[in-house]
Amino acid sequence: MSEPLVQVRDLKVHFPVRGGLFGRTRGTVRAVDGVSFDVARGETLGLVGESGCGKSTLGRALLRLLEPTAGSIRIDGRELTGLSQRQLRPLRRRMQLVFQDPYASLNPRMTVGDILGEPFAIHGLARGAAREEEVLALLDAMGLPREARHRYPHEFSGGQRQRIGIARAIALRPDLVVADEPISALDVSIQAQIVNLLVDLQRERGLTYVFIAHDLKIVEYVSTRVAVMYLGRIVEVAPSRALYAVPRHPYTQALLSAVPVPDPERPPTRQLLPGEPPSPLSPPSGCAFHPRCPYVMERCRREAPPLYPLGGGHAAACFLAEGDSQRSEPAAAGTVDAASPGGAGVLAQPPSRG
Ligand code: SF4
Repeated sequence: MSEPLVQVRDLKVHFPVRGGLFGRTRGTVRAVDGVSFDVARGETLGLVGESGCGKSTLGRALLRLLEPTAGSIRIDGRELTGLSQRQLRPLRRRMQLVFQDPYASLNPRMTVGDILGEPFAIHGLARGAAREEEVLALLDAMGLPREARHRYPHEFSGGQRQRIGIARAIALRPDLVVADEPISALDVSIQAQIVNLLVDLQRERGLTYVFIAHDLKIVEYVSTRVAVMYLGRIVEVAPSRALYAVPRHPYTQALLSAVPVPDPERPPTRQLLPGEPPSPLSPPSGCAFHPRCPYVMERCRREAPPLYPLGGGHAAACFLAEGDSQRSEPAAAGTVDAASPGGAGVLAQPPSRG
């Protein structure tokens, strides 16, 4: 089996909270708190969870757009943490971000031709006519007219602007694309077109995606595997089909119960979660989900459950999964470290592809 393109181990991104007259540190927001996972080449890992769960912070830290507090990020075997911005520069072309708001991410004073030519200029690639050819090829691949290169971002619709944003992200043929809520700012009628464009580009160019979204139906459609985050940690990870068919963590069950099913014969089964997600500034003791969990036990208030491997690449951080974990086939060395305390350092890895 080839080495995964992305290997993340025990990644933490903490932000100090300052206040008072002298700007003293008053606390720490643990936005990402000990996350480990792999992403195989050519697959899409979906990242889901409520707003504030840390998924966007994780996506940005993965690309070193945010500074990790601790842990390891390896892309194609190369450790990214500890590299200076100068050392990172040649690696930047191999990993790109697609933004939620394409308008905010495009310079309004640059023509589309200049926006798409800029990555080549920054990295000293394809000058003159060769660069023009690259820009035209990108417009063709995005289904945009060639004359679009002479126009400005404000002259395009939201969907077209997102196509321009995607074109810029893939211009230098990256290996990894982190798509952070790439369709949530778009009209529903346009969303499917952009999702299908991303899927087609992945097939044609062998892209690897980390796809961050709160729309669970879209995530199911695009993802090979899905990781569910709660309060800075992965609480469940599984191949997409398995996660949607048999969610094992009570939080995942509640999230999925809110997805509408287009079947008038089936009554709605929505499970309402009490309360708001706790603040990452003062996470609850034990299992961070325990104040909202319908199955909470005494143990949950004291101990944090590790990510229990359940076989077939499925793992859940819930004591209710412990028994099934012991009955499942033992995980291959290095696939899931169920012994890690507190869910930190657990490994959410793709199942073997042989
Ligand atoms: Fe609920 Fe306990 Fe499982 Fe946490 S460990 S999800 S509180 S049952």
